[in-house]
Amino acid sequence: MENSSATDQPVNFRAGFVSIIGKPNVGKSTLMNVLVGERLSIITSKAQTTRHRIMGILNGEHQGTPFQLIYSDTPGVVKPAYKLHESMMTFVKGSLEDADVVLFVTEMGEKAADHEVLPLLKRADAPILLVLNKIDLSNEEEVKLKMEEWRQVVDAAEIIPISALHSANIQSLFEVVVTRLPMHPPYFDTEELTDKPERFFASEIIREKIFLNYRQEIPYSSEVVITEFKERDDMIVIRAEIIVERPTQKGILIGEKGSMLKKVGVQARKDLEAFFDKKVFLEQYVRVEPDWRSKENKLRQYGYNNND
Ligand code: GDP
Ligand code: MG
Repeated sequence: MENSSATDQPVNFRAGFVSIIGKPNVGKSTLMNVLVGERLSIITSKAQTTRHRIMGILNGEHQGTPFQLIYSDTPGVVKPAYKLHESMMTFVKGSLEDADVVLFVTEMGEKAADHEVLPLLKRADAPILLVLNKIDLSNEEEVKLKMEEWRQVVDAAEIIPISALHSANIQSLFEVVVTRLPMHPPYFDTEELTDKPERFFASEIIREKIFLNYRQEIPYSSEVVITEFKERDDMIVIRAEIIVERPTQKGILIGEKGSMLKKVGVQARKDLEAFFDKKVFLEQYVRVEPDWRSKENKLRQYGYNNND
């Protein structure tokens, strides 16, 4: 990601983050499954909970250009009545901020006026594609009217009527999404991921906590490697190695009497347990690996190589 030679040169590759947002039950998870599921390599989490962002990665080729599409399915947007909901909303907002394309999923039964998601959309710089789902429950005339209704309240780049359940118009939606991806090298190495999706999700969750708790160069100088992932009947045992470049960074990461690392561990474990829907025992180590970012074999090991 920080590999400058990869970002400075023009690349014949499209890659980006696509956030799927919308109210509960509009069909977000169904849509992500049809978008990802019909094609090539997929990553799905074992626990199909949408309490957290769930990423689905799709690698392929479109009109001669290889692409990597990273979808994140988010919890349905709800008014934060409980603490849990607040943290869910944090995920939704985070997912909007790093999005290259936003899929705002609505369904035929919803009214456009005063829709709860509208204020959230203001956070997105990315183009918004309004997906009008469940058209199978309506007729053409009603669909046209509904599209017009939405056009009045949202500044969407496109409005695309679909039926996720019946895979209707999914190909056109896919075309619109893929052509709006920026030219960018792939973010994730596909081979690393396909056989170890759980490890991938675990390291992403820990990485996110590092981003939340430290400033400036620390997050960018750290990498998380899951060295052990053992699922038992009653719990999952996860050992994670956080790799930094310098001893000073190690000190900052660990904090006074280990307080900072402990904080990261507590937050990560909470999310891991919700994500995998199981008790998690998390052990973290910090290791210094001088200049890991500039070492080819290390980059490869951590999944940052850009070769296919
Ligand atoms: P989410 O809460 O937004 O993730 O919604 P889900 O994907 O879990 O779907 C909620 C319900 O809507 C499920 O019962 C789906 O089968 C149903 N559903 C999703 N897409 C469609 C569609 O295109 N047409 C119809 N009729 N039902 C759909
Ligand atoms: Mg869902």
